[in-house]
Amino acid sequence: MTAARDAEQTSDWSDYRGVLVVVEQRDGEAKKISWQLLGEGKRLAEKLEVQLMALVIGHEVGHLAQEAIYYGADKVFLCEAPELKAYRTRPYSRIAMKVIGEAKPEICLFGATGTGRDLAGAIATHLPTGLTADTTELDVEPPPSRLLLASRPAFSEKMMATILCKQYRPQMATARAGVFQALPRDATREGEVIRIANGMTEEQIATRVLDFIQERDKINLEEAEIIVAGGRGLGGSEPFAMLKELADALGGIVGASRAAVDAGWIKHEHQVGQTGCTVRPKLYFAIGISGAVQHIVGMSNSDVIVAINKDPEAPIFNTAHYRIVGDLFKIVPAITAEVKKK
Ligand code: FAD
Repeated sequence: MTAARDAEQTSDWSDYRGVLVVVEQRDGEAKKISWQLLGEGKRLAEKLEVQLMALVIGHEVGHLAQEAIYYGADKVFLCEAPELKAYRTRPYSRIAMKVIGEAKPEICLFGATGTGRDLAGAIATHLPTGLTADTTELDVEPPPSRLLLASRPAFSEKMMATILCKQYRPQMATARAGVFQALPRDATREGEVIRIANGMTEEQIATRVLDFIQERDKINLEEAEIIVAGGRGLGGSEPFAMLKELADALGGIVGASRAAVDAGWIKHEHQVGQTGCTVRPKLYFAIGISGAVQHIVGMSNSDVIVAINKDPEAPIFNTAHYRIVGDLFKIVPAITAEVKKK
């Protein structure tokens, strides 16, 4: 703990009010986690009876400020400049710190994505506060304590730890994608957009983005609308080609249980569940997956769940909306053939 931090330690945080969500975007398109965090931020803000604020940084991202209002923000700080087109730690963290210094939110939320983790970490090292990373549950204690209860899996995901930031403000957390629910988009909502200047010129920014390398076949389960997931019931890596065929026909991507990943049939980036991704697609197929609680926590928020299992007593059927009892090797090709006819 530095002397500067000690000096700023105080128990009177009455000038810190409100919840701030940092909107994450790439090329003007928001990540789903941004709207999910606004949904959760709104819930916390209403409990604390404070404003929900959002911060949008980038180039030509004004439309996202408006979208943030439609998804629940009361006030949006918008910083647009050509040199902010690509995320870079220094200019983005300086802008965020400026907004935090002026708006004084009691809670700041970021996505637990590569960018969100980097940005939140950079800010936390400069402000007299801590950061709870990778949270999966958020709540607040009512006034007067107003404490953020930021919970995340701990001890190899065997238990949940609730972490408090008692002595500093803002209370900061990154949150896992897919865990929280976005509010329905409401284009009649109104809010305030406050434009802020980027204080740095391109010459003052130490790093340059020369190019982006597109990772081929990069799996993005968190943003997927349709997931076709397979488990130990597939019996090997080859049947995943059958799942890929169904996923391709539906415009979705392939997911997997940990048993399938641990067996080496498919890469970890496909894993759904407690130690994989938390997903929230419109349609989720659970194929040859029994429905262990560690898998269910990662996919139970899907809009529609279709389970295919030969065991009528499989626990997955307690979570599924559509239950198909039978041999996956007969059922999956039949579904794929029907989808392809359409
Ligand atoms: P199984 O439980 O073996 O189920 C296979 C299913 O396939 C069975 O229901 C069977 O009836 C069915 N089946 C077999 N053949 C056919 C067929 N021909 N047609 C139709 N159905 C068939 N698991 C995760 O998935 N994600 C996680 O992130 C995760 N994290 C974990 C973290 C911890 C700390 C721990 C302890 C465990 C974690 N697990 C996780 C593991 C989890 O407990 C289960 O072991 C795992 O989910 C089981 O995978 P499965 O359903 O594919 O396999």
